[in-house]
Amino acid sequence: MERKDIRNIAIIAHVDHGKTTLVDGMLKQSGMFRDPSQLGERVMDSNDLERERGITILAKNTAITYKDVLINIVDTPGHADFGGEVERILSMVDGALLVVDANEGPMPQTRYVLQKALKAGIRPVVVLNKMDREGARPEEVLEQVLELFIDLEANDEQLDFPVLYASAKQGIASTNPRLPLEGNLEPLFDAILEHIPYPVGDAEAPLQILVTTLDHDDYVGRLAIGRVRQGTLKTGQTVAVAHHDGELERTRPSKLFGRMGLKRTELESVTVGDIVTLAGLSSVTIGDTITDPDNPAPLPPITVDEPTLTILVGVNTSPFAGQEGTYVTSRHLRDRLFREQERNVALRVEETEDAEVFRVSGRGELHIGILLEEMRREGYEMEVSKPEVILREPPEGLMEPMERLFLDVPDEYVGAVMELLGPRRATMVAMGQAGPGQTRLEFVISARGLLGFRSAFINQTRGYGIMNHLFEGYEPYGGPIDELPRGALVAIETGVATSYALDNAQERGVLFIGPGTPVYAGMVVGENSRPTDLEINVCKKKHVTNMRNANAEEGIRLTPPRLLTLDQALEYVKADELVEITPKNVRLRKATLD
Ligand code: GDP
Repeated sequence: MERKDIRNIAIIAHVDHGKTTLVDGMLKQSGMFRDPSQLGERVMDSNDLERERGITILAKNTAITYKDVLINIVDTPGHADFGGEVERILSMVDGALLVVDANEGPMPQTRYVLQKALKAGIRPVVVLNKMDREGARPEEVLEQVLELFIDLEANDEQLDFPVLYASAKQGIASTNPRLPLEGNLEPLFDAILEHIPYPVGDAEAPLQILVTTLDHDDYVGRLAIGRVRQGTLKTGQTVAVAHHDGELERTRPSKLFGRMGLKRTELESVTVGDIVTLAGLSSVTIGDTITDPDNPAPLPPITVDEPTLTILVGVNTSPFAGQEGTYVTSRHLRDRLFREQERNVALRVEETEDAEVFRVSGRGELHIGILLEEMRREGYEMEVSKPEVILREPPEGLMEPMERLFLDVPDEYVGAVMELLGPRRATMVAMGQAGPGQTRLEFVISARGLLGFRSAFINQTRGYGIMNHLFEGYEPYGGPIDELPRGALVAIETGVATSYALDNAQERGVLFIGPGTPVYAGMVVGENSRPTDLEINVCKKKHVTNMRNANAEEGIRLTPPRLLTLDQALEYVKADELVEITPKNVRLRKATLD
């Protein structure tokens, strides 16, 4: 079946390049909003918090019609990827609008999403926006876009993208860089119809809908959203939900919805290429396939990254609470948190023994932080604990979550960023160009090592650095970084100790041996140690290029702390404990000196 009456597209744009304005314009011009009172409202990105932080948190869908074709538009998260959301969203579409400010050019923040889109075989349509502005330099920017595509290994079809010159603000698009003074977005609509493939599939084959997003509606409850890959589904028909564990559950969606503009519209039936919202499937989750109960054809499940960080959230019981907030009871808090869990897949909410306190687990500080900030703005007053990493304890011993960290950094900040990561025990796995003047760094780091990193990174790179991380797996727990027990020994590579490390060192009674010294792995810490009374272990190896070969062999007492040469350090040698160091963890033979 060829669905020439449908196009499914994603929209990719750096914050402020005009995505919202463009989608608004498309909605208006497609005649969706005949009621002029609805025209004023900005529609796509209603979440001002996202705007402020420059990220889009949850994908929102909209749909327009043009020349009898339904164009489904899904938004992609612009920056942070929580739990593989980007890939899931991209699995629903065949094309993407890449909106680029014709003055600023492509920004590294969109690179991550764009790369995934190109990898997924999606066909791009490039929109150079803000052409009405004085500084527009479309030729150069187009050149940059092309370079970016080549760099990201776009295929020939993808490189053959159409270019639209646009003023989203004026609602004009043109294939000619000399923008007409009057006009509309028709050339853009036409380009979408012409260049983005329509869905194709077998409408008679067993039903396959991969659930890619969840939503919640107060009236109908949980909503599952996905694209129909094959088959047909009518209202009232029985389906099977193929769960991750292979279990098949016979059930029946109570309602099927599509979209018109921003509104949900009820549908009688859906088939190949439709993006459908199903109500009434209470046990369905992301990655499940809705399929034919008699001929089940489950798709490979998509995995959602696991929560790695947890905090406790409780009702604010301070005497000053309840004065400004709107939602101050534990029931409010409970309802809000559990509602969030319905659509925020990488998030987990649990009750605790204390009825006023809930455990919230997510994909990192930003993920949880955004939710808390959103709730504060809504008027929730909460007390929040410090984040903790979620450890696992299978029979082999304590395991901790590791993350793969992707950083795009202007070249001049690479050294500074490496220094930030040294004491956090990150292992670099790749380094390369990420565009002109930009370096892409890839590390494996424990989720613990990542705590507090984002803000340090943003400061260090003056806001020009971009960071993403994906769940990597579990590894043996390497011992605490943040809460070093007294008597712990910590080693770091020399040459990477920084003021960060030293500041923290003093706070925690930990000394890192600084750069430029021939002491290769320096460490910590006596009982009640203060910077004036530290015990240090040193290893004798001359060149520690890798934590793996840094074996601390001697202990010394150092009063007051200062940087010292190996020979000097060895004069202080006192303890004879050995410390074993591997790239990602530090294990102690014996934790206490003395
Ligand atoms: P988003 O963050 O990508 O959704 O960007 P917005 O649509 O919110 O646009 C960011 C800012 O750029 C707003 O102030 C818009 O009014 C402005 N803007 C968007 N498109 C255009 C355009 O084509 N021309 C001009 N001059 N300004 C634009």
